[in-house]
Amino acid sequence: MHSYDADLIIVGGGLVGAALAARLAHTPLSVLLLEGRAPHFDFEPGSWDARVYAISRASRRLLTEIGAWQRMNPARLQSVSTMRIFGDDARARLEFAAPEAGVDELAVILENRELQRALWQTATDCPNVSVLAPAMPTALAVDAETATVTLADGRVLKSRLVIGADGAQSWVRAQIGSEVAAHPYGQWGVVANFECDKPHLGVAHQWFFDDGVLAWLPLAGGRMSMVWSCDEARRAELLALGPAELAECVAQAGGRRLGDLRQIGATAAFPLQLNRVARTVAARVALIGDAAHTVHPLAGQGVNLGFGDVAELARVLSAELPARCGDYLVLRRYERARREPVALMQTVCDGLQKLFNNTNPLLKTLRNAGLGLTDQQAWLKHRLIRHAMDA
Ligand SMILES: Cc1cc2nc3c(=O)[nH]c(=O)nc-3n(C[C@H](O)[C@H](O)[C@H](O)COP(=O)(O)OP(=O)(O)OC[C@H]3O[C@@H](n4cnc5c(N)ncnc54)[C@H](O)[C@@H]3O)c2cc1C
Repeated sequence: MHSYDADLIIVGGGLVGAALAARLAHTPLSVLLLEGRAPHFDFEPGSWDARVYAISRASRRLLTEIGAWQRMNPARLQSVSTMRIFGDDARARLEFAAPEAGVDELAVILENRELQRALWQTATDCPNVSVLAPAMPTALAVDAETATVTLADGRVLKSRLVIGADGAQSWVRAQIGSEVAAHPYGQWGVVANFECDKPHLGVAHQWFFDDGVLAWLPLAGGRMSMVWSCDEARRAELLALGPAELAECVAQAGGRRLGDLRQIGATAAFPLQLNRVARTVAARVALIGDAAHTVHPLAGQGVNLGFGDVAELARVLSAELPARCGDYLVLRRYERARREPVALMQTVCDGLQKLFNNTNPLLKTLRNAGLGLTDQQAWLKHRLIRHAMDA
């Protein structure tokens, strides 16, 4: 008879790892959540996180089911009613509006830290979840019955299954030797928040330029959050600007649609890379979230894909006896179910990035015409909206 510290050890208590722990509440599975950093949620009142997400309808459903949505401050959530997309020709334009798909909203924009706080508190309140943070693993060994994790402080933890929810540079993924086809975009996501002179009315804007993609996401309280996916030269230029200069540069780039802007908080930049992971499961190990895949943020789908992993893995594990949760054949069911939606999203985002990050005059004409044509096809727009919302 084997003795386990927990049925599952989740390595990484970020958005996706914490969501899985919470999703497994009300199952007979015991969960140990290991997080490398000590979490802290004492934010300066009135400050805003420059890192925000567009949460899809499917993700919102999951977050509501586990009780995390209810823990978020409603004053910091913003519905998106309309999405306007512009090509680099002033006439090329595509608009998605919620009523076209018969829904109230296309997505909800919220801050990373607010979501992280809600998920962490939800997970750690579950009676079947225990937490070790900060804790760093240094070794993973797997045999027929047990996955053993050794921590940097020498502790040894035994479980039936180890989940790698430890982000794009996943340590767990390296332990199982799963190959990663990494495609750096040579681009950065530069993010910052602004107060706006004009009301945004829940409209998100996105401009496809020759050298990058600029997104303005409506933020609660009449604020706006920018994600500018750009090359190294533009990144250096943007980061060197003071708050007033950056606000002016961003306002100009977006044709002053929200009037004058005033920056709130700091500017940050994240390198952008597509990761296609060869194997997302092995005996007694499964990968979820950015450990299993990354995508270009132009469609705002990275964490939504991760929440899709959570929903599917929890579904597969709940259908089995706890003793079988680490079985390779059980985990393969999860891997097979996620392969197609993940590959599709990666291909769409990668294709759009390549199509628009190209100065070929023929391609420029075609892509601008494509935006206009799509805009005239009500049925196609309806399907695209539905697909993005349920991703
Ligand atoms: C500029 C930009 C904009 C984006 N915008 C959007 C958007 O609008 N919508 C969207 O859906 N997605 C977006 N994304 C993607 C989104 O940020 C990621 O998909 C998401 O954060 C992945 O969550 P995760 O929990 O898998 O990984 P992470 O957030 O990376 O969390 C991993 C956790 O594991 C911990 N950890 C790491 N290694 C170890 C270890 N060895 N031991 C213990 N703990 C460890 C870390 O401390 C961390 O807490 C964007 C990404 C970028 C770069």
